[in-house]
Amino acid sequence: MEKRIVCKFGGSNFKSRESVRAIIEAVELYRQPLIIVVSAFYGITNYLTEGIETVQNDESHVDELIATIKEKKMESIDFSIEDEAYRRETYALVGQRLDELNRYLLGVHYIGELPHSVKDRILSYGERLSSLILTKTLQSRGFDAQEALPEDLGLITDGEYSSASVDFAESEKRIGRNLGNRQIYVVPGFYGISPEGQINLLGRGGSDYSAAAIARAAGAASLDIWKDVDGYMTANPKIIPEAKPVPALSYREAAELSYFGASILHPRTVEPLLDRNIPIRIFNIESDRTRLVPLTIIDGTCPEGSNPARSVTYSDDFAILRITGPGVGIKGGVLGRITTALDQRGINIKSVVTSQTSINVYLAAGDLTASVAAIEEQKLKTVTRLTPMDNISIIALVGESLLEHPDQAGHIVAPLVREGIRMPIVSLGASEGTAYFVVSREDRDRALRIIHRNFFEKEGAAP
Ligand code: ASP
Ligand code: MG
Repeated sequence: MEKRIVCKFGGSNFKSRESVRAIIEAVELYRQPLIIVVSAFYGITNYLTEGIETVQNDESHVDELIATIKEKKMESIDFSIEDEAYRRETYALVGQRLDELNRYLLGVHYIGELPHSVKDRILSYGERLSSLILTKTLQSRGFDAQEALPEDLGLITDGEYSSASVDFAESEKRIGRNLGNRQIYVVPGFYGISPEGQINLLGRGGSDYSAAAIARAAGAASLDIWKDVDGYMTANPKIIPEAKPVPALSYREAAELSYFGASILHPRTVEPLLDRNIPIRIFNIESDRTRLVPLTIIDGTCPEGSNPARSVTYSDDFAILRITGPGVGIKGGVLGRITTALDQRGINIKSVVTSQTSINVYLAAGDLTASVAAIEEQKLKTVTRLTPMDNISIIALVGESLLEHPDQAGHIVAPLVREGIRMPIVSLGASEGTAYFVVSREDRDRALRIIHRNFFEKEGAAP
């Protein structure tokens, strides 16, 4: 059989009742056999996440939740499936799936607690409803399509709840065995199955990662990610109207940009594809639906050109905890105790920058207060001061060869200094190919503009 392409349609592709039709038009552009991976309809995962908290105390919320989801699904079915018989069959199948969800929610209410295994199962229903509706719509229009659940395919994880990793070797074995000869399979994203058969979510936004893992396991020709925006840009066009499209990125550049806040791809998407050299192609469903024109192609080659920078991005979801004391940088064991204390509270450290007298721990903004408490509890003798810093943004300029030239660092930082932007922390080279620095939130847009002007708006500065 010809190599398959794995296509992923995300929550932003399931925003309105017209959405499924647009997806069908996109699918019609392909001539090869496909595996389509889908996310939940827009907003549904958040709605379920809040709902399972509420139902623990309030039984009536179960009916309300099911009714709200049902209404959205029925509207989408009515709009997408014209054939009466298919439409009725789809109502019934969606009804069954909602009944299952209803039973799990009631279970949570009566037990009064929410075991991880049940939480992950409940949250997977957003994706399961999308895959069912899309499969039925495709069938009603004559496509040779079938739904394939991760449990049937064998997308195996490491067994961790809520943000599992995929076991690539095991999944490849099973998916290779289980995938049949249909022209199209539709897979709900966002979860895999533990070796014991439990449902494990792959982390928020994780259906990109499921799609990538499936692309690897199926030996796909490419992973096509459909969005409702124009792929990667030299900066966020909402802040920098001069931003230009970025037609090519290396895997590493795409991963760094995602990590530092570009929301086009989940940061783990490149991980399964790197060593197989399976390209990622980004498409916009809002633009041309008469031809397959990728807006950005991501692969193992480093794009050529005179500009070493690809894109500047930022994230507001960063806070820093500065831990000061004479000798924290030289005394053994301090960093170890800090990281252990944070790990025990389930706090993820994004990065650490140390000097002789201070350790700077980068965290998600929401983890700052708990981190201060965790470290105070340690009563570390060498530590004289804890300085939590919030209301900051991290700005990252990304490009594989950005830091190859020693003078490059100066080019990046000097204009910012000249224009009076204060940067409490600058890191050039901690991540290869990424220069990042911290600015106060109010300086964020100005700093982005200065960088963008210097790297992307000069004569001949093609991305
Ligand atoms: N629906 C899930 C989420 O919102 C997974 C995804 O969208 O990729 O996190
Ligand atoms: Mg998503």
